[in-house]
Amino acid sequence: MKCPRCKTVNDNMRTICTKCGYYLYKNDSDPRTRMTKEQIAQMDRRIIWGKTKTVLKWLWRVIVIIVMVYWIVMIFLWASSYLGVDLGF
Ligand SMILES: [Zn+2]
Repeated sequence: MKCPRCKTVNDNMRTICTKCGYYLYKNDSDPRTRMTKEQIAQMDRRIIWGKTKTVLKWLWRVIVIIVMVYWIVMIFLWASSYLGVDLGF
């Protein structure tokens, strides 16, 4: 990637010019470095999927807690009614 400021040729992996420190990914004047609409959409999808995964992770934890509380309550109710019947006899 060629630096638009100082014309230094940097390797493709670099996002900052090795000579002048120019942010190469911010360069929109060179059409070769500009992201295509598909690339932007792909990046958006990745960001959305990342957020969705975080939400799902939290949702899963909430569901697990609700199910656990439900079972604890059910066992408690069953045990107390069982004991209640036992005491009645
Ligand atoms: Zn430069």
